[in-house]
Amino acid sequence: MHGMSTIHLRQQVARHAATSSMLRRLRPQTGLSGPQALTDFFDRLPHARRRVLMIDYDGTLAPFSTDRFLAQPYAGASELLMRIHTQPATRLVIVSGRPAREAADLLGLAPRPETWGVHGWERLTPAGQLVRAILPAQAKLALHRLLALRPQLEEAGALIEEKYASIAVHTRALADESVKRVRHVLAEFEPRADGQPRPDAVYLQAFDGGYELRALGPNKGTVVRGVLREETRDTLIAYLGDDVTDEDAFHALGGRGLAVRVLPPGTTDLTALRPSAAQVALRAPDELLGFLARWGDTPIGAAQL
Ligand SMILES: [Mg+2]
Repeated sequence: MHGMSTIHLRQQVARHAATSSMLRRLRPQTGLSGPQALTDFFDRLPHARRRVLMIDYDGTLAPFSTDRFLAQPYAGASELLMRIHTQPATRLVIVSGRPAREAADLLGLAPRPETWGVHGWERLTPAGQLVRAILPAQAKLALHRLLALRPQLEEAGALIEEKYASIAVHTRALADESVKRVRHVLAEFEPRADGQPRPDAVYLQAFDGGYELRALGPNKGTVVRGVLREETRDTLIAYLGDDVTDEDAFHALGGRGLAVRVLPPGTTDLTALRPSAAQVALRAPDELLGFLARWGDTPIGAAQL
């Protein structure tokens, strides 16, 4: 009896040590190229009877465009996603900052995959039903206050995009001086100096190409946690995204899936990148397309063939 519990304890310690060394290996603070994590993932893929691919749109599947309605997926990306989408074992989930319908339309997959929009505030079901989280009244008022600043923002050259639960102020292609003016107009929405949440339940977030005033509430991490709750422990999961809003998702994965940061085409200086919680970095479009192609090429049980 005594011997058994000692063995049990040793196993526990060994398991714990193995887990922490694995976490250290898989979660470098820089979030840069973790080839081992990628190798482990594709080793497991053929045996995974259930897989989930969660993926962002802008900057991940599609390069940025000054006209955001022209942001088309990288050549070949839609076809590769479609192959994954039609694998019976895979659940494909699009997670975008855009309105859900807009992201789904730009991607253009038929049948339409499960699509989350406005960073998780909207969910477009495969059947086409749009479901939204409830927007608190004080956040709605704050968003209206920002809309009242529209003339000043547009005069500085910004483009205003009204979404459900957020307003994006696009400054892509603006000169630094104009961006500074935009920032000045948005000053009243800056975070509080003491780091506490603002009483109007909104927060200003910089993104690649502008600023967004967002209501406190769902974010991409919320989407990931919801998906994790719906899946069993042995489901193989990956999340691919490129910007700060995807960091919420990387954190929410908490080691239960592969967190992949997608880098802009031509990225060479990996040391100059902002820190990330991602385990692996893949350059768009080549490495990203390679990842999707490998997933699409791997049916269940491929290793036994
Ligand atoms: Mg993005």
